[in-house]
Amino acid sequence: MAKKYIFITGGVVSSLGKGITSASLGLLLMSYGLKISLVKIDPYINVDPGTMNPYQHGEVYVLDDGAETDLDLGHYERFTGLTLSRKNNFTTGQVYYTVITKERKGDYLGKTVQVIPHITDEIKKRIKEAGKDKDVLIVEIGGTIGDIEGLPFLEAIRQMRYDVGKDNCLYIHLTLVPYIKVAGELKTKPTQHSVKELQSIGISPDIIVCRSEKRLTNEAKEKIAMFCNVEKEAVINAVDVDTVYEIPLRFKKEKLDELVLKKLGLEPKKEQDLSQWQEMVESIKKPKDSVSIAFVGKYVGLKESYKSLIEAFIHSGASMNIKVNLKWIEAEELEETEPDKLLGDVDGILVPGGFGLRGIEGKIKAIQYARENKIPFLGICLGMQAAAVEFARHVVGLKNAHSEEFDKNAEHKVIHLAKRWEKDGQIIERDENTDKGGTMRLGAYPCIIAPSTLAHKIYNKKKISERHRHRYEFNNDYKELFKKHGLVISGESPDKEFVEIIEIKEHPFFIGVQFHPEFKSRPLNPHPVIKSFVEKSYESKRAKAEN
Ligand code: GLN
Repeated sequence: MAKKYIFITGGVVSSLGKGITSASLGLLLMSYGLKISLVKIDPYINVDPGTMNPYQHGEVYVLDDGAETDLDLGHYERFTGLTLSRKNNFTTGQVYYTVITKERKGDYLGKTVQVIPHITDEIKKRIKEAGKDKDVLIVEIGGTIGDIEGLPFLEAIRQMRYDVGKDNCLYIHLTLVPYIKVAGELKTKPTQHSVKELQSIGISPDIIVCRSEKRLTNEAKEKIAMFCNVEKEAVINAVDVDTVYEIPLRFKKEKLDELVLKKLGLEPKKEQDLSQWQEMVESIKKPKDSVSIAFVGKYVGLKESYKSLIEAFIHSGASMNIKVNLKWIEAEELEETEPDKLLGDVDGILVPGGFGLRGIEGKIKAIQYARENKIPFLGICLGMQAAAVEFARHVVGLKNAHSEEFDKNAEHKVIHLAKRWEKDGQIIERDENTDKGGTMRLGAYPCIIAPSTLAHKIYNKKKISERHRHRYEFNNDYKELFKKHGLVISGESPDKEFVEIIEIKEHPFFIGVQFHPEFKSRPLNPHPVIKSFVEKSYESKRAKAEN
């Protein structure tokens, strides 16, 4: 159990940034030397977001232990630098699954199993476990107040106050204060209604964080304080900002951190120093130059599914004080176009991870263009697999090469389905008959870097660990043949069962990685692969300008 709990709920509308708010508060508390953790509770019935459509749900964020989690866990890890585990994200589906499994085993001794107390007890148990040995646990409740599916969670956090004592609990409610143009006014009524709804469930927020487009007036703050039963200093304004990394600094300005410490009776364990964070924010806000990188994927408009990668580019850009402009290129469009038209003006080309056949030939075309024109190239997961196919077809001369994912009957399946692998000492075997969508290589795996390679230059290490999420792998039957034609295999699993990094010689920067480096990029510690790619792209931009 943690010593103190902070519960964060959201009202009025969704997408207000509860995740960023939780992560920012986490960073601020850590800056005082407190031991914290965060947990996100999702009120949907899916067991995890692994099987959910990323276009609907956003990115599936993968942790070291292989948990497929909500994208808010990405914000938590990026802001706090913590490494989280599957304990830090759970869903209604998981809670019911546990309770029903227990019921089937007869653990409830014939009692009627009900939402209260059985479901709520399971929720509280999971919250307490996530807070083990921590000074403070921040608990973010997904969804919006008023949703029926959130009720068991709200009841559970209401009860927590009695379990751990009122001085050890803090309720923060995040709302929207809209600006109505025609009236020229900020409207507090939605906030009042949302707080009333929360109070009817038995929870009185201690702090209200108000998102707004324009700065809250003194009058608006007073009104909210008065009608929502909080002190005026507990009405915190979160005005829209240019970069999410500025939010902790804004909260600091509004004294949210001091208020939280005071209300929970916590003493700082060290002096706060946010200067590095501040410099990083300044660097994002005032870039001295820019670089243009083509992002060749499959979009249908939703970029949320590439959240971590977009952030990783921001981190790398910030460390060099340049802005990385991503040029979104629909891979399918490349199939019917001269690549020069779409790719002629970029400084680097990226093919990110992905699933599904659509656009694959466009991605391969982009890779060929990058290879032949010596444009810096980074391929991630599917992007690396597509690079192997491109190499097979155009360098080795295997015209009918493909990935087994897209052509089961291809003559040369240079990328194929992995059958068996080891995770944390356990052998995982794919069940050909039951595997419908499941069984991916998930989470952190070690990789050995070959000396005198680009990968070694990038990492400057012999052994690394990176996060994976894929079913298909480089087919080792082609290793020697590819090597003969100049492919460099610069990273492999320790048992050499899996090729993890490929590159080509005679190119300024051409690298494909089977893993997802973006999950480990942090604002003050950008990922070396992505950073080197941005650096090389920027170098090539400057070289072009000089010629
Ligand atoms: N679809 C590919 C696979 O399953 C790549 C997955 C990815 O890019 N994350 O192996």
